[in-house]
Amino acid sequence: MARVTVFTLGGTISARGGDAARMSGAEVLAELGVDTAGPSGTTEVELRDFRRVPSSSLTFEDLTALADEVARTVAAGSGVVVVQGTDTLEETAFLLDLVCTTEQPVVVTGAMRRPDLPGADGPANLAAALAVAADPGCRELGVLVVLADEIHAARFAHKAHTTSVATFASPGAGPLGVVVEGEPRLLLRPAVASRLCPLRFDPDVRVALLTLSLGDRGDLLELVTERPERYDGLVVAAFGAGHVPAWFVEPLAALTERMPVVLASRTGAGATLSHTYRSPGSEYDLLHRGLIPAGPLAPAKARLLLHALLSSGAKGPAGYDRPRISAAFAHLDGAGLA
Ligand code: ASP
Repeated sequence: MARVTVFTLGGTISARGGDAARMSGAEVLAELGVDTAGPSGTTEVELRDFRRVPSSSLTFEDLTALADEVARTVAAGSGVVVVQGTDTLEETAFLLDLVCTTEQPVVVTGAMRRPDLPGADGPANLAAALAVAADPGCRELGVLVVLADEIHAARFAHKAHTTSVATFASPGAGPLGVVVEGEPRLLLRPAVASRLCPLRFDPDVRVALLTLSLGDRGDLLELVTERPERYDGLVVAAFGAGHVPAWFVEPLAALTERMPVVLASRTGAGATLSHTYRSPGSEYDLLHRGLIPAGPLAPAKARLLLHALLSSGAKGPAGYDRPRISAAFAHLDGAGLA
């Protein structure tokens, strides 16, 4: 019989009435009729009532503790379902993707409609996530996001709508599979694993994320350039395929002397370019001034990858390991796959 351990962290699926009190993990599972006292159908379900918070209040300390428990659970031969709020679900999934092995399926799910509202989607999402987590065919795919009967790879999954139950998409890629009549059906496999080598995640590492918008005069960038000792790295969510105002180039280039600066795109899909535009502030200019391309990783995920690398030896007294960081981002860009 398949074993699946469910970690509940709170979120909409547990937010009956919408106030601060959250349902317990057992109550969340009971909505689906899962009784953790005994086997549920063909699956033995174990519950870890881990946190009861809106996902916007999850901390890196919560997630590193979760990652440790997930790693132990997978090593003991159990599949995993993490149930949390959808607001930061893609970040939890990607963080787990970077630090946990998936010899057993690891699935993250949640809900868009509270359990007391008509058409609540929590039970259906939980049922689909349990089916994926119990299926040996869903091993070694990296961490998965399952909602609305779609199976997404953590690195692509993105909450793309504030209220739709079909909010999760994989922009620039597409779902890896679907759940049909309760059974997972895989359509695709990721070309490479996200987990490059054993990576750690140290909550004390500080990586800033700066999202650009038209007319930015550099006030927020100054918060980093004037106090660089506060940060270990910076991700810039730039315009288009990796463009910043011309007056950002000098301060960003100077920062690369002290910390890794990763160039991501704020568009939401597609990879950063390297040599299509060559004017001041273009991707070509910035990459030749020391910035590191994020490739197709969305800014928040680029921040997590940089954070994990800096937690795992890519930073030392002599500075940061630029080749290693660049190689990690290039790996997930799918370039050079023979
Ligand atoms: N969607 C929110 C979350 O991600 C809802 C909440 O406050 O529970 O947790």
